[in-house]
Amino acid sequence: MSNTRPKHASMIQFPIQDNCLQIGGLSLMRLAQRVGRTPFYAYDRQQITERVAFLRQHLPTEVHLHYAMKANPMPAVVQHLSGLVDGIDVASGGEMRIALDTPMPAGLVSFAGPGKGDDELSCAIAAGIVLNMESEQEMERIASLGTHLGIRPKVAVRVNPDFELKSSGMKMGGGPKQFGVDAERVPAMLNRIGKLGLDFEGFHIFSGSQNLKVAAIQESHEKTLRLGISLARYAPGAVRLLNIGGGFGVPYFPGDEALDMAAVGQNLQRLLPEAKRELPEARLVIELGRYLIAEAGIYVCRVLERKKSRGQVFLVTDGGLHHHLAASGNFGQVIRKNYPVVVGNKVHGNDREIVSVVGPLCTPLDLLADQMEMSKAEAGDLIVVFQSGAYGFTASPTAFLSHPPPIEVLV
Ligand SMILES: *Cc1c(COP(=O)(O)O)cnc(C)c1O
Repeated sequence: MSNTRPKHASMIQFPIQDNCLQIGGLSLMRLAQRVGRTPFYAYDRQQITERVAFLRQHLPTEVHLHYAMKANPMPAVVQHLSGLVDGIDVASGGEMRIALDTPMPAGLVSFAGPGKGDDELSCAIAAGIVLNMESEQEMERIASLGTHLGIRPKVAVRVNPDFELKSSGMKMGGGPKQFGVDAERVPAMLNRIGKLGLDFEGFHIFSGSQNLKVAAIQESHEKTLRLGISLARYAPGAVRLLNIGGGFGVPYFPGDEALDMAAVGQNLQRLLPEAKRELPEARLVIELGRYLIAEAGIYVCRVLERKKSRGQVFLVTDGGLHHHLAASGNFGQVIRKNYPVVVGNKVHGNDREIVSVVGPLCTPLDLLADQMEMSKAEAGDLIVVFQSGAYGFTASPTAFLSHPPPIEVLV
């Protein structure tokens, strides 16, 4: 029987040879020499490929897979993923340019997010990207920009659902939100879309991020489908797109368990007949960021100094929260927990100790590991933070304290 959960534990997804972590077929020491300086992020191409294959294996073939690139917009990563997924979702003009540089057809790129500028909207209309509209005002602006450009904009309505995604790490739908249009206002908006002559594609409904609870995801998929079906009655044309969001979580902390993807897939399979009957022309889309890339990435920094203070050992490194805010516990965590961290060139040493890994910033928040057990490290050793492929580099305040930014490599 095939395993329905991906390999995830930090010691499993990257092989270890001679006690040194391997990534992309290279030993970490060799990779560090090749990169030339620390700190750096490394993303494993093969693991990204395998993750997409794993999803394809468990999700119905009718479900289209999009990459929500804000999780990791490194152009090489986006290029690689563009050959594996069925579409790309962007959230800014900058991300749109990176997506348009890939071979992905513009009609399979969508653009979501509140506060889109006229310049961003105009570029998207000209490119033929699907605009996920976040408000009625945005709809009016899109219509007049389309008239001005002489191009009929492709649009979808981002709906703020009348339910919340349970157990989600970060809620992005339900209740009052800055995202999307409240479900109860969508019928009137659909009527207006028809009058404005916009090219209506369908609906985008995204309820939250970092969800590890299968039952909550299943419930959200079902409610999202029902909401799409009930709104379709008011649509100015056939619904050709139903984007039911992303938000699949990955395990970061002790006790977290990887998502049972077979169970997620079986539930979608169960919902498909209804989707096909009620929305026969709609392609069903799932947009994933974190799940596609988080576990394929590591952050690597070097120990500069071992320091003792009143009985505690601190490994002072050249990396820190300015490069990896999430690992420091300051990106959405309520209670700080340690990411999985090891000494990458001495993974399994017998000589182990409890240490705190800190960075060079003058703030006590600059903490990559708080009193964790790992092999005894010396100056020059390489510290690895796992699960760092998503919301790492670009979700960090790199300008804080004016240190150089980290390097990124795809191996
Ligand atoms: C951030 C975002 C995603 C991706 O979320 P993940 O939790 O990384 O899968 C998908 N859709 C929208 C609209 C987003 O803003």
